[in-house]
Amino acid sequence: MLDDVDLLVCGAGPVGCTIAERAAATLGWKVLVVERRPHVAGNCYDSIHSSGVRIHNYGPHYFRTNDEAVLRYLSRFTDWIPGNYVVKSLVNGRLLPFPINLTTLEQFFGCSLDTDAGRRLLDAKRQPIAQPANSEEMVLAKVGRELYEAFYLNYTLKQWGRHPRELAPSVCGRVPVRLNRDERYVDQRFQVMPKDGFTALFTRMLNHRKIRVLTRCDFREIQTLVKPRRATVYSGPIDAYFDHCLGRLPYRSLRFEFETEFVPYRQPCVQINYPNDHSWTRTVEIKHVTGQQHPHTVICYETPRSEGEPYYPVPAAAHQALYERYRDLAEVTTRRERVFFCGRLAQYRYFNTDEVIAEALQCFEKIKQLGSNSFLPSPTTTGRVPTSIAESSADCGRARARTEARRRRASSPRPTMA
Ligand code: UDP
Repeated sequence: MLDDVDLLVCGAGPVGCTIAERAAATLGWKVLVVERRPHVAGNCYDSIHSSGVRIHNYGPHYFRTNDEAVLRYLSRFTDWIPGNYVVKSLVNGRLLPFPINLTTLEQFFGCSLDTDAGRRLLDAKRQPIAQPANSEEMVLAKVGRELYEAFYLNYTLKQWGRHPRELAPSVCGRVPVRLNRDERYVDQRFQVMPKDGFTALFTRMLNHRKIRVLTRCDFREIQTLVKPRRATVYSGPIDAYFDHCLGRLPYRSLRFEFETEFVPYRQPCVQINYPNDHSWTRTVEIKHVTGQQHPHTVICYETPRSEGEPYYPVPAAAHQALYERYRDLAEVTTRRERVFFCGRLAQYRYFNTDEVIAEALQCFEKIKQLGSNSFLPSPTTTGRVPTSIAESSADCGRARARTEARRRRASSPRPTMA
C-alpha cells in the first residue's frame, strides 16, 4: 500500500476524514491517513469512560449548522439525535441562562421584562461603539459594562490568558444576546448530535477499502517514507509544518479532568460556566446531550492553559499577521508540491465542526482539479518500501525510535572547546 499512495492525509480529524472519504469514494484514489494520536476523530473524539458513561474527551462538541449540504453529507454516516445544548453561567452565586436572554436580564437586574422593556434596558446599558475593534468593545457595544464584567471579562481572561481588548471582536461576538427566552446555546437551524457518537461517525467515514489509517504515527516520519502520487493534505499546526521558521504561532490548550458521580445527573444542564469562580472555565456533563441511560454520570472540568496540545488558535491581529506570512509559504508549497493546508490549526482559524467540514469539502474540490489529471513528478516512494500495513506500522515505530535516539543524542551533553 505505501508504495502506491495517491493521497497522503495528515490528521484523522474532521478534515482528514472528509477528504480521505471523498477521494476514495468518488475518485477511487488510494489514501493513506496518518494520525499522531492513538485514535481517529481528532478533537471530536468521544469514548466510553471507565464508569461506562460516554464522554467527549477533548471538550464538548455541540454539532450545529445552517448548511444543509454538510448535514446531508454527514447523514450518510450517522443517524442523529436532537442536540440539547443548554448552558448556564454561575454569576453572583446563581445559575443564570447563558447566552444572555430576557430571563438572564430579569434575574441579573432584579426586574421583570418583556421584549420591548428588555431592548430599552440594553439600549440604556450598551456603549455607543459603532465598529468594535476588539472583544471588549464588542461586548460593551452589545450589553454594556455590568454584564460584560459579570459574564465575559474574567471568563475570557481565563480562557485565553489575555484581556478581551487583545482579542478579535469575533471571539466574544460569536455568543448571541437574545431578547426572548430561548435557552439554547446556539442559533443554528439544525442542532443535532451523532446518534452513536462522533468517533463512530468518523470511523465509518474512513471505513473504505481504499483508505488505510495509521495511528500513533508521526507525519514527519511517514513523509520520509511515502511520496504520494497526487497530493498531500496537512491539517496540523501550520507553523510546525514549516519548522516554526518564522516564529511560533500561539495556541491555547486545555486540561480535561473527568470525575465520576454516583448519581444519574449532577448538573441541571450540559454546561455550567464559571466566569468568576474556580480555575476551570466550565463543567460539562455531556450525558444531557447523549441521552445515555446510566445510573452514574461523569463531569468534565475544563481548565485552560498555554502549554500542551494545541486546541485553539488565538484570534488577534499580530497572530493573524504571522499566520499570513506562513500562509504565503503554504501557497507556494501547494503550487509546487501539492500539499493542501486545511483545518483549524492549518488555517489558524476558529472553525466550528460544520464549518471545517464545509472547508474540507471545498479543499477536496481543489485537490480533485489539480490531482485528477496528472501525477506529481517525484518518485512514488523514497527509502525502503513497506509492503503491508503491519510492516509500515513497524516502520513508523522504527522511524520514531530513530527520531527519539536523535533527540537523546542531541540533548546529551557535548564536549565543549575551551
Ligand atoms: N465567553 C465568555 N463567557 C462565557 C462564555 C464564553 O466570556 O460564559 C467568551 C470567551 O471569550 C469564549 C468566547 O466567548 O472564548 C466564545 O465562547 P464559546 O462558548 O463559543 O467558546 P468555545 O465553546 O468555542 O470554547
